[in-house]
Amino acid sequence: MYQIIDGKKISQEIKDELREKVTALKAEGKDICLAVIQVGSDPASSVYVGNKKKACAYIGIESLAYELPEETTQDELLALVRRLNGDDKVNGILVQLPLPKHIDENAVIQTISPEKDVDGFNEKNVGALCVGSKGFVSCTPLGIIQLLKRSGVEISGKHCVVIGRSNIVGKPMSLLLLRENGTVTICHSRTQNLKEITKQADILIAAVGKPKFVDDTFIKEGAVVIDVGIHRNENNKLCGDVDFEKAAPHTSAITPVPGGVGPMTIAMLMYNCVSSVE
Ligand code: NAD
Repeated sequence: MYQIIDGKKISQEIKDELREKVTALKAEGKDICLAVIQVGSDPASSVYVGNKKKACAYIGIESLAYELPEETTQDELLALVRRLNGDDKVNGILVQLPLPKHIDENAVIQTISPEKDVDGFNEKNVGALCVGSKGFVSCTPLGIIQLLKRSGVEISGKHCVVIGRSNIVGKPMSLLLLRENGTVTICHSRTQNLKEITKQADILIAAVGKPKFVDDTFIKEGAVVIDVGIHRNENNKLCGDVDFEKAAPHTSAITPVPGGVGPMTIAMLMYNCVSSVE
């Protein structure tokens, strides 16, 4: 029988721990403030931003919302980011992605001060992760490490295979698993004989961006499988990069979608906000 790794429960535990920490920090006169910037009104982004504000309120973090119109120019956005960089009251800055096409996302990310880059996307924080020094780490991979640790999954010495090499998930995920002493293989769209590699994984992370891509034929019997993907299927129901029904019976532990990796991303954003003050 396989274990379902419950991201909802684990993220709630983390939020409750953070709430206590924030109460203690407030007693020392240290308040935490996160600025959240959204450009345009993409419905999915609005849901994410709403959830982030809710999590802030629960934990006791002040959130400043900047809802800018779609026509906002890159210069206007960069000017706001620079102003927030210089505002001592603001500890974290989050720019909700994707941005409208006329704005260069990378230019915005690199303008956020590394000390306030709670998403962990700035080159300085990515570099810190590479060389193993302190810095903010991308929230989704950071959450996956917590899911594994809090579910009693040993990473050290295990063969960890990551499908996906994006800057937001695949690459930081691989570096974090390496930091935890895993033996890491990164697969991507040009990888040959993908299944031969994934079938060697003790821990398989699917961050492919393709619905139900990973089924039982990718999995070694008893592996731990983490599903990062989020998609809506033909019935408008959420599903992941893993075909849960086919894969689950062959795993020892697996994350569901929804209720696996998703809730962890926001919990770790809150963790990064609290760390920015600690
Ligand atoms: P992405 O599209 O940037 O990257 C996908 C990666 O998969 C690429 O590196 C590509 O090389 C690889 N890939 C594509 N086709 C492949 C194939 N046939 N074989 C092997 N590798 C292949 O996506 P991303 O931003 O890394 O996100 C991945 C998934 O995770 C998406 O479904 C996204 O919605 C989801 N996501 C979820 C959260 C969360 O909080 N749960 C956060 C971020 C992303």
